[in-house]
Formats: sequence, structure tokens, C-alpha cells
Amino acid sequence: MIREKISAVLQGTTANKGIAFGKISFLKRATDTDAKVHVDNTDSEIERFEKARLHAIAQLSALYEASLEKLGEQNAVVFQIHQMMLDDPDYVSSIKKLIVKEEANAEYAVTKVARRFEKQFLEMDNDYMRGRAADVIDISRRVKEILMMHAGKLKKHGISFDNSGPIILATDDLVPSETVQLDSKKVTGIITSLGSTRSHTAIFARTMGIPTIVCVGDSLTPDLEGKYAILDGNSGYIYIEPDEGTITRYSEMKKTDDAQHSHLEEFRGKETVTRSGRSIRLYANSGSLADIDLIKASDAEGIGLFRSEYIYMQAHDYPTEDEQFAIYKKVLQGMGKKKAIIRTLDIGADKTAEYFMLKPEENPAMGVRAIRLCLTNKALFKTQLRALYRASVFGNLSIMVPMITSVEEVIECKRIIEDIKVELKAQELEFADNVEFGIMVETPAAALISDELAPLVDFFSIGTNDLTQFTLAADRQNADLGTYLNPYHHAVVRLIETTIKNGHAAGIWVGICGELASDEKFLGKLIQLGIDEMSVVPSSVLTLRAKIASLG
Ligand code: PEP
Ligand code: MG
Repeated sequence: MIREKISAVLQGTTANKGIAFGKISFLKRATDTDAKVHVDNTDSEIERFEKARLHAIAQLSALYEASLEKLGEQNAVVFQIHQMMLDDPDYVSSIKKLIVKEEANAEYAVTKVARRFEKQFLEMDNDYMRGRAADVIDISRRVKEILMMHAGKLKKHGISFDNSGPIILATDDLVPSETVQLDSKKVTGIITSLGSTRSHTAIFARTMGIPTIVCVGDSLTPDLEGKYAILDGNSGYIYIEPDEGTITRYSEMKKTDDAQHSHLEEFRGKETVTRSGRSIRLYANSGSLADIDLIKASDAEGIGLFRSEYIYMQAHDYPTEDEQFAIYKKVLQGMGKKKAIIRTLDIGADKTAEYFMLKPEENPAMGVRAIRLCLTNKALFKTQLRALYRASVFGNLSIMVPMITSVEEVIECKRIIEDIKVELKAQELEFADNVEFGIMVETPAAALISDELAPLVDFFSIGTNDLTQFTLAADRQNADLGTYLNPYHHAVVRLIETTIKNGHAAGIWVGICGELASDEKFLGKLIQLGIDEMSVVPSSVLTLRAKIASLG
């Protein structure tokens, strides 16, 4: 049928890029009912719940094993987390209490408690904890489904949807265990009215290569069932009943996309080498623990910049040594043998947390921030360094400090680190003896005295975001200064060149972790200047590896 015009266009947020064609099919869940039924014997209802809960834990253990190959250890681990959540005393006792208090059936109690926990998680400040809301719904649906099966009300497990031909799956939100059940040959795309790009669902969809758009909102209405659509995961648009012109345009785009994609996949698992055989370490930048899955899926060879300030920004008070230790340990364990360069606290300027009660300043970007704050408040710095060193035995850690402008600052940092090692030894706390220590070169001062700084450190990492702003006297927060904030400016490029030359002269490696590292247009110049390591946005890893193979 020739369609004259598109009947509707929906818009959401891209969780995984790519183009998909298919009929919209809404996900149907057997557990969608939550009717309350009166029970006379609450003890036997609690027993029913207990049986279903233990059954769910056994299922999750099997699902973990089965997912290892499909998704990898890093992603499958969510099913171990689910097992732990099903053992959470607060969750379990809330359900049992509700059964008794309302003399109600277990299905009803599970649904009600799940909604309460979901709400609590969603209200949390921490992105990672907000992501747990989907998990509590997931485990509760599983228990409910088992309850219904035990009662003979349900024959088959799980979810269903129209299975004829390629479909674009539509739903309010998908939980991880539903996502892994999808067959990516049938489900060409996913649209959710809710969801978040950081949820495990989004991460799984990316790993499975299914183009996904989340947060479409109320416009994802049930009357769209069965309608033909095009999902454009590059722009976040979904075209319902598109006209022939749109179909042809997107078919061409998809052909190009597919060809590019399969070309890039050839670079997965490979080393990053230039045409002449020079190896470059291609790492990725990370903002939080939640990014680790994404980084692993991106095939980055390590983390080149872990912005530890996000841990402080998400907390309500100074994170303790133990709290930080737990996070760094997970990051390092998550990365296995791969290097993780964790940057010490870079708070100040645009990155603040209320409890720091930073003094208002005229020019906070050039104020008491980052390493300046840490050297003023040594207890703060020491807490972080102790946590980092204690975690160092769990992986391949490097530490770097931000905003260095002088030799004295570097000497002071190293002295504090030595003190911490002595302290830890005295307390018989283990730490690795091969933790590299580096600095960010992100001020013109550091670049200009890089010959004096290089002999003091194991590596340099060039932060071109700040280096550009300070070299060109152009505030990176001010959108009106767009053309002034030019990282290609010869002044910035000369500072990069000086830093690399001085680093190499002293025998240390030099990396780059500012946004310029992900810029394909600048890649040739970086290779020519002799960069050793690049830390980029995870989605650019394979693209850059492919490009590097054709350069130098
Ligand atoms: C930089 O300044 O280039 C950098 C990587 O650090 P941030 O963007 O966190 O300031
Ligand atoms: Mg910076």
C-alpha cells in the first residue's frame, strides 16, 4: 500500500542507536493483574509466598548461568543481585506483614510492596540506586508469576507479544530478565514510555545490538498495536505508518549503517594499532560505577578517566573511606586485568556538592578547586587515597590528580601518598605496589613546565577541556563563547605537542582524556604528535580503532 503521509511521529531519548523497521507490538505480561483476594489462613499464604520466593531464587541462579555466554559475566551479574534482593529482610518481611495485616493474597502483597520499593528507589539522588527500581519490579513479577503457576492460573512463563515477523516491541518499561528473553532476530527495536538510558535494560539492549528509544511518554498509546513503524535510534524519532519516501530514505540509511556496523565489529577484541604498526591504548571515560557495563561492552582497553567527583556529588555527606573503598573495589574488579585510571576529587567550579559549603567565588573555575581543595583539606584527600590504595589489590589501578600547576603540588601529593602507604602497612592493610601515579595536564602552566613535572610522575593525561578554556581565556560553561573555545587553536595544539615531547623525553607515556580525544577530525594530528593513550566516550571506541588502523 502506498502511504501518502506519516500518520504520527513520536519522540524519545536514544538508549541505543540504529534503525529498525517493523510492526509495533505491545508486550503482554501474564502478571498484569493485581486483584486483592481475602484469605482466611494467612500462615499458609505466607508459606505460599516463601515457596514461590525460593523457587524464584533457584530460577535466577539458572538464569545467571544461562546468561553468562549471551551477555558476559559483567551483565549476567544482575541476576545474582536479584537473588540477593529476594533475600532482603526488609522486602521479605514487608510482604509477609502485609499479608497478615490486610488478610490478603500473596500476589497482591508482592505487587503493593514492589510499588512502594520502586517509589523509594526512584526518589533517591543516586543514579545507580534509581536504576534499582526496575530490578525490584523485575523480581516481584517473577515471584508473582510463580505464585500464579503454583495456583494453576498460569501455564507458561513470562512475556508474550505478537511473534509474526519483525516487530518493534513497545512497553512501559522492560526489566532485565525480560530483555534477555528477546530474540534480536525478531525484535528489531524497542520503545518504552518510561525507562532510562542508564538502566540495565538499556545496557543489555546495547549489548544485544537492538536499537532502543526510551522515555517516549504518554504518546505511546495502545492503539498503535500492529501499526508499521520506523524507529530511528540515531535521532530518537519513531515514524508511525511512514510514507514511501520516508521508507526509502531509511532503507538506504539502514544499508549504510549495517555495512558500517559489520565493518566496525571486525575490530572488536583487537588491539588498537596504526597502519605502521604503532600500538595506541584506547581507553574510555567513566562517570560512575554504572558505566562499567557500558565500557566493557564498548570493548575499551581500560578506563582512562574515572571522574571520582561524581561519587561525592551523588552523596548527601562526605563519602566515608569504606563507602569509597566499596565503589573503587567494584570498578577494579569489574575491569579485571584492564587498567582503571581513577582521578582524585575534582570538585569545584561547575561540579559542586552542598555539604562542601564551598565559599562563593568570583571565578570558581580558577578558584579553590580540585587538587587545591584537597591540599587545603588534607583529611579529605587522605580518605580518598586510603580508599583507593586499599582497593588497589582488586585490579589494575592508576591514580591521577587534576588541575596541577606546579612542581610543589606534585611533590606534596607524592609525600601524602607515601605517608598513606606507611599508615596502611602499620595497620597491616594490603595495597598493590604497582599503582601508577600521574597528573592531568589541563592548565597551560602544567604543559609549559611539563619537562620539570615529567620526571616526578609515571604518566601525563592531557585534559583538553580545561586546557582549551584556560589557554584561550574562554569559559567552557559559556555557550556564547562557542567559536572562542576552539581546541584546534594553534596555542592549544602547541601545548599538547610540548607535553607529549617532554613526557617522552623523560621516558613516560602521555595520554589524552578531554573530549578532543573522541574527535575523529583531530585523530590524525594526535597520532602524528605521538600520543600513547586516548580515553574516549565508550560509543566511539570501535569507530576510532577502525580509523586509527587506517592512519599513521
Ligand atoms: C578536561 O578538563 O579535559 C577533563 C577531562 O576533565 P573535566 O572535563 O572533568 O574537567
Ligand atoms: Mg578538567
